[in-house]
Amino acid sequence: MQETKILLPESELPTHWYNVIADLPTPPAPYVGPDGTPVPPEAMAAIFPPAIIEQETSTQRWIPIPEPVREALRLWRPAPLMRAHGLEAALQTPAKIFFKYEGVSPAGSHKPNSAVAQAYYNREAGITRLTTETGAGQWGSSLALAGSLFDLDVRIYMVRVSYEQKPHRRSMMQTWGGEVIPSPSTHTDTGRNALAADADNPGSLGLAISEAVEEAAGRADTNYALGSVLNHVLLHQTVIGQEAKRQMEIAGAYPDVVLAPCGGGSNVGGIMFPFLADKAAGRDIRLVAVEPDSCPTLTRGHYAYDYGDSAGLTPIMKMYTLGHDFMPPGIHAGGLRYHGDSALVSQLYDQGVLEAVAVPQLATFEAGVLFARTQGIIPAPESNHAVRGAIDEALRAREEGRERTILFTLSGHGHFDMAAYDRYFAGELEDYEYPADAITQALHNLPGIST
Ligand SMILES: *Cc1c(COP(=O)(O)O)cnc(C)c1O
Repeated sequence: MQETKILLPESELPTHWYNVIADLPTPPAPYVGPDGTPVPPEAMAAIFPPAIIEQETSTQRWIPIPEPVREALRLWRPAPLMRAHGLEAALQTPAKIFFKYEGVSPAGSHKPNSAVAQAYYNREAGITRLTTETGAGQWGSSLALAGSLFDLDVRIYMVRVSYEQKPHRRSMMQTWGGEVIPSPSTHTDTGRNALAADADNPGSLGLAISEAVEEAAGRADTNYALGSVLNHVLLHQTVIGQEAKRQMEIAGAYPDVVLAPCGGGSNVGGIMFPFLADKAAGRDIRLVAVEPDSCPTLTRGHYAYDYGDSAGLTPIMKMYTLGHDFMPPGIHAGGLRYHGDSALVSQLYDQGVLEAVAVPQLATFEAGVLFARTQGIIPAPESNHAVRGAIDEALRAREEGRERTILFTLSGHGHFDMAAYDRYFAGELEDYEYPADAITQALHNLPGIST
């Protein structure tokens, strides 16, 4: 009989994070300032603790996970690997479909994997407060959870439209003791300027990042925490891929293709980086990031130096970008709206190690509904991108009459995103391809650092 759930005992929780920088063929491009010179690691000391700064540039291949962080991770990890028998049957595909389910964390997504590590290192450095931003509320709730576990106050700047549309994510953050403020706010210069220009500004992730960074930089007791994009976040997420590799082995399978939803790249890094050594050793494995075609950062963006936030407060990173002033279309309900992408994911994509596909919004919800009706779990709208990607691979396997083993990350459940499903069922969502002229236009607003 074929297993449905492949579970690992707690004793198999990874002891180390895998640092992909150790194995990159060329070192990552340094973060730079507006004048193009590299930002020294110390410059980040105003907002990050020393251990995180070290992890950002470390070339050590295996980094030990501190025991208090493993203890926190044991609250929900190891996460299950599941075989999607029901979905396979519905698709009448010869493909085997496996998914790594990250929705079992208290916040309902993969994000607490990094939140608990970041909270731990900040507390060790004597920090008592953290600021952050959140869009859909996934990262804010994860950091609020981590703050409660490691005794830190957490202030969350929440993109105003989400603050209004997702009251229950807000309630979660408050339950864990987090303070939630709609962004743009009057707490920061960035927020006040944005409100002066447009009192009805709906907010954006880039703007909320600017507010959180501004506050953290201005207070000695306060640091900033980011839920994706940066190297240390992807590092912390490699527990996903390490566990999944072991679980696939137990299932007697090995993936031909691994898929993950891609916003800032932490799922992609988390599940895919641990497979890179096999690929480098000649194993035939495809690694595919799936993004929305309304925010097509990898598939249509520029590989260039750009800011990580809309106000230009962060260091400038070489990454795929749609321009730091990118505003996601209002019609888009599926998340994954960040303008840029992890520098590590960008570099590996540029070198052809990773692939990317962009999928239209309606097809992602269609995939999520089929998944819910065959597997039971209602996926987060972000996760639906990977579900779509996996279904497309399975349908291709059927057309070609070939077996194929597919692994994807189901990054979270959608229990707090039912309003997005309601809009889908009501026919209020549309496909929206990001216009080519907006992509060209974005080039003019890049900081102009030559590569
Ligand atoms: C944040 C989030 C994502 C996207 O973030 P990445 O850093 O690109 O992985 C995907 N799925 C869920 C459920 C999320 O909360």
